[in-house]
Amino acid sequence: MLPLPPNSIAMAEHVKCLIIGSGPAGYTAGIYASRADLNPLLIEGLQVGGQLTITNEVENFPGYPEGSSGPVIMEDIRNQALHVGTQMRPGIVTKVDFSSRPFHCWVDDKDEITADTVIVATGAQARWLGLPSEQKFRGFGVSTCATCDGNFFRKRTTVVIGGGDTALEDALYLSQLCAKVYIVHRRREFRGTAALQKLVLNTPNIEVVWNHVPVDILGQQEGFIKKVTGLQVREVETGEERVLEVNGVFEAIGVTPQSDLFKGQLEMDAQGYIVTQPGTGRTNIPGVFAAGDVQDPHYRQGIVAAGSGAIAGIEASRFLMEN
Ligand code: NAP
Repeated sequence: MLPLPPNSIAMAEHVKCLIIGSGPAGYTAGIYASRADLNPLLIEGLQVGGQLTITNEVENFPGYPEGSSGPVIMEDIRNQALHVGTQMRPGIVTKVDFSSRPFHCWVDDKDEITADTVIVATGAQARWLGLPSEQKFRGFGVSTCATCDGNFFRKRTTVVIGGGDTALEDALYLSQLCAKVYIVHRRREFRGTAALQKLVLNTPNIEVVWNHVPVDILGQQEGFIKKVTGLQVREVETGEERVLEVNGVFEAIGVTPQSDLFKGQLEMDAQGYIVTQPGTGRTNIPGVFAAGDVQDPHYRQGIVAAGSGAIAGIEASRFLMEN
């Protein structure tokens, strides 16, 4: 549990619309809420720009005919939100109280903000496998972000775990830097899109290890220096184990919604996705809306998140007109 915010005699800042999160959903909600004169305040969180900022090549976000990079797209959307008047503030929302209106939120455990409407756009974060030695080598050869850490493995051998779009994109990215890239996937067919599958299967320095699951990460430690030397994998049907000699392990096994902050207040499904009324972004609390990956177990695309941010911005404005 996070510590409770200290008592303060200062008046809380009040806004008509508070947006929590700065991915495509949060920024687009900012654009719509600003144009509806809600003067929204957007708290940007830890990873400014969200998950797209760690995606190297994006070909499926409309408006970029030749594709672009995640950071460039997010910078563009952020600038557009600023241009129409969205106030941006660094910080993390550490506590919320949605029990009465106006809603109460605390930033960085201290600054209290009251809001007539709240748009939750906190996104999702990469999942970890939970292997025995994973924590030990995290940051020393084990990563969930190929575009952040791939550069450390130039001309080395790496492995990507997973069979979705992220795994395929990561493997393609790493194949340009590394001598060899394995993909370890637990089934005999990929989940990722056909175009990426084709590219992966036609890249000579990518080898797919089908039907295998990771068992443990192997490595060495001398003093404070740790390094990965291999990934132990098991064939799903035969149970046969072997070691892939690799210097880097990249996990790409999906995401978890970042919704812990709202537990007990907003309705969620078993995986922690915030439940919204289809097509509206409305949560179980009138005046609180959710947009983007934190409420989307199905599509998890940047453009879908942006669209749901637009919906939440419009809904917040309608809510204030009606109340
Ligand atoms: P994902 O689609 O959920 O794929 C996760 C992969 O990891 C699956 O292949 C899954 O295997 C495997 N996996 C899950 N748990 C595992 C475990 N415990 N051990 C071994 N393997 C495990 O996740 P994602 O690739 O991060 O994609 C998330 C969303 O973002 C998707 O909707 C995707 O389309 C989207 N995305 C889009 C793009 C793009 O369009 N450019 C890029 C990246 C992501 P199974 O297949 O057997 O379930």
